[in-house]
Amino acid sequence: MKLIDTHAHLDMTAYRRDRAAVIMRAFTEDVSIITVGIDIDSSRAAITLAKEYRHVYATAGIHPHYAAAVDDEALIQLTKLSQVQEVVALGEIGLDYYRNLSPRNIQRDLFYEQIKIARQANLPLIIHNRKSDHDLLAILRDIGGPYRGVVHSFFGKIEFARHLFELGFYLGISGSVTFPNNKELRSLIAESPLERLLVETDAPYLTPVPFRGQRNEPSYVRYVAEEIAQIRGETVEEIARETTANAVTLFNLPQLPERDGE
Ligand SMILES: [Zn+2]
Repeated sequence: MKLIDTHAHLDMTAYRRDRAAVIMRAFTEDVSIITVGIDIDSSRAAITLAKEYRHVYATAGIHPHYAAAVDDEALIQLTKLSQVQEVVALGEIGLDYYRNLSPRNIQRDLFYEQIKIARQANLPLIIHNRKSDHDLLAILRDIGGPYRGVVHSFFGKIEFARHLFELGFYLGISGSVTFPNNKELRSLIAESPLERLLVETDAPYLTPVPFRGQRNEPSYVRYVAEEIAQIRGETVEEIARETTANAVTLFNLPQLPERDGE
């Protein structure tokens, strides 16, 4: 059963002691990984990992948290990274009005700039959105679709999801689907077209039940797939097949590696 964890942060210090073991555990469990950059350095680190492991793919992007630190040179570097062969998406980019670590107007400007870079490089978008639904939609509509992209770790409202589907987006479902008090997310998953869903961990964050409270890792993405299967009344194999095919299509991935012995 092949799965693709479409959103992990393998370069983070949470993995400094056992990064190779975490990555190989995913490989053993037939999980490929998209490791997502949050700034120029982490995008470079993601590319290095993607060069090293054939089941790892990289993205390049600057997270809205760090928007205030971005200068012209950073955008030049990002444009260069967007053209590297191992880079399968521009992300994570977007808006975060919950933590507000950078001023909102600067977040918006950077979001515009990065969508431009993605379009020049013909890359899909990986979008981070927190408490910023209105402005996110306004910018996406202002630039105009159709889009190739995913709004990751989605836990918004169904009406918002419908607008995103209309613009061409996929939704990334993370381990938060296994948490209690997520009735709204569960009904959204039940009602969404399966051809628009992806699975992800957002590791090292958002660890699914039964490991909640511990560090997350890509091999746990199967708990997300199992929960989606349960919600939709389908088999986990079916969810894996569909969401993996969706990720291959969206990120234009080459043929996934086979484990030895298959
Ligand atoms: Zn992330």
